[in-house]
Amino acid sequence: MVFKSIASAVKQMLSEPFTMDFPESRESQPDNYRGIHKLDISTCISCAACAHICPNQCIDMVDTETQKGTKKMPEIHLERCLFCAFCEEVCPTDCLILTKDYDYEKYDRREFILRPEDQE
Ligand code: SF4
Ligand code: SF4
Repeated sequence: MVFKSIASAVKQMLSEPFTMDFPESRESQPDNYRGIHKLDISTCISCAACAHICPNQCIDMVDTETQKGTKKMPEIHLERCLFCAFCEEVCPTDCLILTKDYDYEKYDRREFILRPEDQE
């Protein structure tokens, strides 16, 4: 009985861990996974098509300082987002995409806002 327990413990020690060392290691996502948005403010033309098509009114067009002056840019409220990707589909310049990034935990859901000035 004792030997069986020791053998089991040794076997567990030598086997691959069941858990992942997050965030250093991450699971790869399927091709159709829709994660957090990414906006390229240099190619956004402020057309507001993304804001108009959003079924859950997640997108506000807000004044944003850019190299070409102040422009209206989409600010996305992820706490209401359905990740339907309609905003990505309608964007005429492909500057708004849904990435495979799922790492957007917050302590306060009101912080789930993707502000244009925070985008690269
Ligand atoms: S993914 Fe859908 S719900 Fe989320 S911001 Fe875009 S259009 Fe709105
Ligand atoms: S649809 Fe695209 S180009 Fe138009 S405001 Fe939204 S992100 Fe910018």
